[in-house]
Amino acid sequence: MSGSGSGRAPDDLFLKIVAGEIPADIVHADDEVVAFRDVSPQAPVHVLVIPRVRYESVAELAAAAPQTLARLVAVAQQIADAECGGEYRLVFNTGAGVGQSVFHVHGHVLGGRGFTWPPG
Ligand code: C5P
Repeated sequence: MSGSGSGRAPDDLFLKIVAGEIPADIVHADDEVVAFRDVSPQAPVHVLVIPRVRYESVAELAAAAPQTLARLVAVAQQIADAECGGEYRLVFNTGAGVGQSVFHVHGHVLGGRGFTWPPG
């Protein structure tokens, strides 16, 4: 168990974005989740949706705060509806081996172009 509902990982970049300590292009903020544009977009629409409280993975978030995960998904849908006609991928990389580099759970909302399947 690595995530924590209350702990602050010393190197958690996304908590610094939530706290306004480092800049981000924020597109949505409420009492549970914050969404901001990825600094290295992989598609015309590439927004990250995160809980304000740190959990390392989507499974940890689901177990500890399912209502926050539901909010995160609803916000992802809202962003996709507004920016790419409601067609999008919602990706949660889980583990360094599959590409997770920030260990504060985040849903990638990707849209605005076609994608191949299977993913690379
Ligand atoms: O799934 P993964 O952990 O690799 O995703 C982290 C994402 O956070 C990357 O897409 C990276 O571009 C993004 N990022 C960001 N702003 C930062 C640091 C990383 O948007 N300050």
